[in-house]
Amino acid sequence: MTNLTQQQVLSVHHWTDTLFSFTTTRDPAFRFENGQFAMIGLEVDGKPLLRAYSVVSPNYDETLEFLSIKVPNGPLTSRLQHLAVGDNIVVGKKATGTLLLANVRPGRNLYLFSTGTGLAPFMSLIRDPETFERYERVVLAHGCRQAGELAYKDQITEEFPVNEYFGELLSERLIYHPTVTREPFRNRGRITDLVRSGTLFADIGLPSISAEHDRAMLCGSPAFIADMRNILEGLGMAEGNNASPGDYVVEKAFAEKT
Ligand SMILES: Cc1cc2nc3c(=O)[nH]c(=O)nc-3n(C[C@H](O)[C@H](O)[C@H](O)COP(=O)(O)OP(=O)(O)OC[C@H]3O[C@@H](n4cnc5c(N)ncnc54)[C@H](O)[C@@H]3O)c2cc1C
Repeated sequence: MTNLTQQQVLSVHHWTDTLFSFTTTRDPAFRFENGQFAMIGLEVDGKPLLRAYSVVSPNYDETLEFLSIKVPNGPLTSRLQHLAVGDNIVVGKKATGTLLLANVRPGRNLYLFSTGTGLAPFMSLIRDPETFERYERVVLAHGCRQAGELAYKDQITEEFPVNEYFGELLSERLIYHPTVTREPFRNRGRITDLVRSGTLFADIGLPSISAEHDRAMLCGSPAFIADMRNILEGLGMAEGNNASPGDYVVEKAFAEKT
């Protein structure tokens, strides 16, 4: 357990019957960059059962927050969904990942395209003033099946704009575009379709995304990532990573079982 610390659950919020979030204490020695993920989990039969989780909370917060799916019969989440205040989880000491501001070239607008729990890393990035200092506009597109799965919608639209630290910048520069595929909502359809058809850009009042001016980060299902990658590569955008910055960067929100 030398690579892990025990942290205590401080709060739990169930968004839907398949989605919840929770906050925990944070080891003061645990350092991460906004957009990164860590291994977290539970001790099961004396052994750690760990999975990758993006950190929702910004890196200057004293506590940690995570957003989690509940996979029926999932080894970790079938247990994790029963977390209660005061329970312990284990958190890996190292954070990693490619969704870093440093991995994306400067540009006009930054697009954060997410589906489902892929929103998580962008929650920390939109609370980082540097995100807004680097780009004129930051567009957070979040796609879900049902409106109830649009986690943090009210915080993003109501609480964050009045935050003392980043509120002013966020109000001026963030465009939040939630969209739902399977029930009525003000924005309907898959992000990939909205980008291809240009509907997204018409709705938010920006020119269509271009390799010359714009940058992007992707986090979502493997199918969403594959489709978005095709779209961005088709526009002439080049993928970046921790070795060399690019026009866009990618993190899977989860891996499909092979
Ligand atoms: C880089 C990275 C970051 C991740 N960040 C998060 C995160 O912030 N929040 C989170 O809930 N999960 C995240 N995951 C997925 C997470 O690691 C686990 O897969 C998830 O917690 C389920 O664990 P499990 O043991 O219950 O089931 P597993 O055996 O791990 O997964 C079973 C199956 O459930 C499906 N599944 C798993 N995770 C998801 C998901 N998030 N959304 C939709 N379907 C899923 C997949 O089909 C998967 O094959 C991330 C994965 C990676 C690789």
